[in-house]
Amino acid sequence: MSQETQNWTIDDAEDLYGVKRWGAGYFSIGEHGNIQISPNHRKPDVYIDMAEVLAEMEAEGIQFPAVIRFHDILRSQVEILNETFRDTIETAGYEGEYVGVYPIKVNQMREVVEEIMDAGEPYNYGLEAGSKPELMAVMAYNENPDALTILNGYKDEDYLTMALLGRHLGRKMIVVVEKFSELEMLVRLSKKYKVDPMIGLRSKMMVRSTGKWSSSSGDRAKFGLSIAEIVNAMEYLKQHDMLHCAKLLHFHIGSQISDIRKVKEAITEGARLYAKMVQMGMPLEYLDIGGGLGIDYDGSSTTTDSSRNYSTDEYVADVVYGVKQICDLEKVAHPNLVSESGRAITAHHSLVVTNVVGEINPGATDFDITVEEGEHVLVSNMRELVGANDLHPQERFNDAAAYKQSAYEAFKLGILSIREMAKIDTMYWLVLTEIHQKLDEETRQIQELEELEDTLASQYLANMSIFQSAADTWAIGQLLPIVPLTRLHEKPEVRVSIADITCDSDGKIGKYIENNSISDNIPMHRLQRGESYPIGMFLTGAYQDVMGDMHNLFGRLTEVHIFSHDDEPGAFYIEEIVPGHSAEKVLETMQYNTDYMAKMVKKAIDKQIRKGNLAPREGVRWTDFYERCLAGSTYLRYDKKA
Ligand SMILES: *Cc1c(COP(=O)(O)O)cnc(C)c1O
Repeated sequence: MSQETQNWTIDDAEDLYGVKRWGAGYFSIGEHGNIQISPNHRKPDVYIDMAEVLAEMEAEGIQFPAVIRFHDILRSQVEILNETFRDTIETAGYEGEYVGVYPIKVNQMREVVEEIMDAGEPYNYGLEAGSKPELMAVMAYNENPDALTILNGYKDEDYLTMALLGRHLGRKMIVVVEKFSELEMLVRLSKKYKVDPMIGLRSKMMVRSTGKWSSSSGDRAKFGLSIAEIVNAMEYLKQHDMLHCAKLLHFHIGSQISDIRKVKEAITEGARLYAKMVQMGMPLEYLDIGGGLGIDYDGSSTTTDSSRNYSTDEYVADVVYGVKQICDLEKVAHPNLVSESGRAITAHHSLVVTNVVGEINPGATDFDITVEEGEHVLVSNMRELVGANDLHPQERFNDAAAYKQSAYEAFKLGILSIREMAKIDTMYWLVLTEIHQKLDEETRQIQELEELEDTLASQYLANMSIFQSAADTWAIGQLLPIVPLTRLHEKPEVRVSIADITCDSDGKIGKYIENNSISDNIPMHRLQRGESYPIGMFLTGAYQDVMGDMHNLFGRLTEVHIFSHDDEPGAFYIEEIVPGHSAEKVLETMQYNTDYMAKMVKKAIDKQIRKGNLAPREGVRWTDFYERCLAGSTYLRYDKKA
């Protein structure tokens, strides 16, 4: 062990990867250098060792990549949000209640929705749907007559009729009108089906959030009614003797609000509008502030797109006190408060675990570069740069680049042999590595030389698809923390970036957390032959879990559902394993008939048997092999002992 490695502590690893900064109390690094999880906010001293989880997964025969869901984290987040609202409402002397809803779009997995409903029952926590199929799910899963079901998104007759069915079943289903024509349709249908709807109106907000979702508000927003339309809606409802059905004012200024000032502005605008609508004669009871409660993905507590500059306590206080102040001024009763926090409820509870299955590093190729009799002058030129540490790094870099370019020209003309070209290439990377090691404060300022850090970084190939498991890192440059799950007590000695196994050069991660800032690559440990190197991509529970696609036909991941339990060894047990998509399953979604495919391959094998090119037993083995692969995972099967 080198001196440096001995001096490395888990505190250094914590500084580097910032696990506690983004871990929200759930994730940290244990004394043995493994990630540890403390999934229950009520029992902060109960830790689950990630290495033990991985060992149990292996014992169960679960292959990488897999999604691990910590159900206790989900429950904790529901409890924290609801209790923070309750406590703040009590302290503030606020006269309404908090009746939140979980927007299932953020993660529609049945197990996730069930767990949230179960944890939220004492608080009458409800659900939100934004489309017809989501409405069908929430109809079945929110049976609590005291919890709200909020219906957003664009609606047709079936959608609205389904909501009226909900009213017949005694549910508090609130149809949020996104555009005026929905109101006309709803009034007509409720007369036809003889049931009073509960109506919400979505307001187009003037306040603009910052970040990726800023277009959710403002004049050109896709959703919501203008102030004039809201006034018209009141007249329209009055005309149809349905004003008593108007129950809720809704707004949503966008997801992942990074700056608390935008929350304050939105509350001021929304609460004022609420008060004016009540004064105008609408019998509203609820103010729905939408989603937007952010997650500190990069742990910086700033207003960058991947962070937030406030705590949940602060958010809730700004909502409760903000609404109270305006309603008191306007002499309007305090509304019940609804929020539609999705990201904040689900982001922490799941992560993707996978292994590094290879390394791409042009500088690490082993090739004999010793002098040969009569070698081409280009080879000897490049050799002169090897070890030439006295040369100015910029000059040495320029020479190396020029020699390499000439060598390629010469190779294309048939002047250099393939062995000579291989030598030049090998020495070129050697020279770059040497230059990089010798850079000092001053020479590091030179842009070309500074970029060597990136040029020389290895790529670690992770057994996963970014498009399936972390769509937003590709689509909108979302940052998700990536950390080795073990060996954190060892100094990570190589700089790497992570690439996935899709045949797409976009299939890589471009942003990493390093020492509380954002980097293009990240230090990780050297791979050890015969040992797997497990890494985790964290905070994937919101959106990432469900938005992925099957690029290259890499399918959904195997899921491992974990519950913490004090009496179990390691304080956890695997409650359920949901198998990932097989190759067969993803092929079928593309209209392949896999029985037919197996039959065709078998027929071809049989033909070779008849011709005597394959022994019958051998043929059977090949047929079985093809069928086994059809039934198997779409990802790389990687036996670490191999
Ligand atoms: C997406 C969405 C949400 C969820 O937002 P989060 O920022 O994930 O909490 C809530 N309400 C509406 C209307 C949405 O479209």
